[in-house]
Amino acid sequence: MNLLDRRQRLLAKLPPLDEVLRGSLVERSVRCGKPSCRCASGELHGAVSLSVTHRGGRTEQISLPHELVVSVRKGIAVYWQWWKILEQISAINRDLLRQQRARRGGVEDGKARRGAKSRKRRAPP
Ligand SMILES: [Zn+2]
Repeated sequence: MNLLDRRQRLLAKLPPLDEVLRGSLVERSVRCGKPSCRCASGELHGAVSLSVTHRGGRTEQISLPHELVVSVRKGIAVYWQWWKILEQISAINRDLLRQQRARRGGVEDGKARRGAKSRKRRAPP
């Protein structure tokens, strides 16, 4: 399969973004506080949260009722699926760029290169 076909196939695999979620699921054992509950004698409840770390290190936690865990897990999977495909398409586009460059018979550097400083743009997280 050529690069353009591979790129097209990857684009078709992108899942819908409407439920996308960044973060991870964190499971903890907790006491609910009722003195008569089984957790008072050490049989703790499982509590699940969505944990999201922001730039600068702040962490946000959203505790999840049991019935929301499945859809949150799906949202996180969608996030990583997008990243994976983004990286693969980006790699294909680099190969396409190399092909285009080779077709032109290399870079016309010389003057342009000597004066140019390379600047790196900041990469996304
Ligand atoms: Zn309890």
